[in-house]
Amino acid sequence: MEEQRKQVEGIREAFKAKFERFANLRSAASDLKLASAEALSKELAEFKIKSTGKKSEIAEAKKLIGKVAPEERGRFGQLVQAAEKEITDLLEKAEAELNEFITAARIERERLDVTIPGRRPRTGHLHPITILRQQIEDIFVSMGYAIEDDREIETDYYNFDALNIPEGHPARESQDTFYTTGGFALRSQTSTVQIRAMERRGVPIRIIAPGKVFRRDTPDMTHVPMFHQIEGLCVDKGITMAHLKGTVTEWLKRLFGEDTVTRFRPSYFPFTEPSAEFDFSCFVCHGSGRVSSEQRAVSSKEGESAGEQLTANSSQLTDRCRPCKGSGWIELGGSGMVHPNVLRACGVDPAVYSGFAFGFGLERMAAMMFNIDDIRHMFENDVRFLEQFK
Ligand SMILES: [Zn+2]
Repeated sequence: MEEQRKQVEGIREAFKAKFERFANLRSAASDLKLASAEALSKELAEFKIKSTGKKSEIAEAKKLIGKVAPEERGRFGQLVQAAEKEITDLLEKAEAELNEFITAARIERERLDVTIPGRRPRTGHLHPITILRQQIEDIFVSMGYAIEDDREIETDYYNFDALNIPEGHPARESQDTFYTTGGFALRSQTSTVQIRAMERRGVPIRIIAPGKVFRRDTPDMTHVPMFHQIEGLCVDKGITMAHLKGTVTEWLKRLFGEDTVTRFRPSYFPFTEPSAEFDFSCFVCHGSGRVSSEQRAVSSKEGESAGEQLTANSSQLTDRCRPCKGSGWIELGGSGMVHPNVLRACGVDPAVYSGFAFGFGLERMAAMMFNIDDIRHMFENDVRFLEQFK
């Protein structure tokens, strides 16, 4: 009997040693993860079969009951049963605790909190350059102009020769662009579209050509190597400088208001003769060059100054008008009567037809209108900057 009693005691001890890792689940529960609890539950089920199944040590111990002396049999039987009950109870308790934890963890995982606010989808909006380009396009379309688009990689012929800028002409120097191998270059001006459009459509013609142009400029506050121009061209019988002035004045009035006036200053461009640069009266001070402090406050509030957030220190507390630098005029672009050589290059007889052309950059205009100090902001894709144009 003593020997068998020790054997049962040994089984109990061995079980308790192995059961140790399942014993303190409740206190460990705070650190327990659902996945490891599920793994542990499987291990516990296996351990239960090993500890209480038909081939378990305690089942073997029951067979010893018949081997002890009959007078001790009752007592030994109780001992084995007590050991078996203890093992089973511990296992079932651990099992119940673990299942409770798993159920709670699963409910938590699948819980849907309907009180959390939803995520608002972010909608995009147009870039300031696009906003301005579309405004100008709308004006010209309403004036009977067609919008032309063309290639950005051009041959020397279209970028220079056909525009009356022959090899060795000093104007080529100032428009130094990016050359590829094989005689192609990124166009340095949208005037190339004048030639392409006249070749394709013939005359009479009225087009504007918005697009990207390229110059070998080092980026700074007012220069970038890629920028946008809008080119205008009108060729018909009897077109004069008066039509040019009327057209430029009209679209600027439609963009900046009826009181806008324009000014043309004699200039030189190889592809126009005569040539003129055109200015318009400042849209903030209306030509006076001065603004009162209230006006300044209003004008910088109106723009809610795009870029102001990024360049807050730039405005000074003088009453000199900022966009026109106190002159009352804003210089915008170049224009003139299409040079007879350009018409000839497109197969148009300059004795019958005449025309005017003009061009201007969009970046500097947008920078002025939206109160942006540095045109590089427009190409940096900084969302804090772009969001101001919603
Ligand atoms: Zn001004």
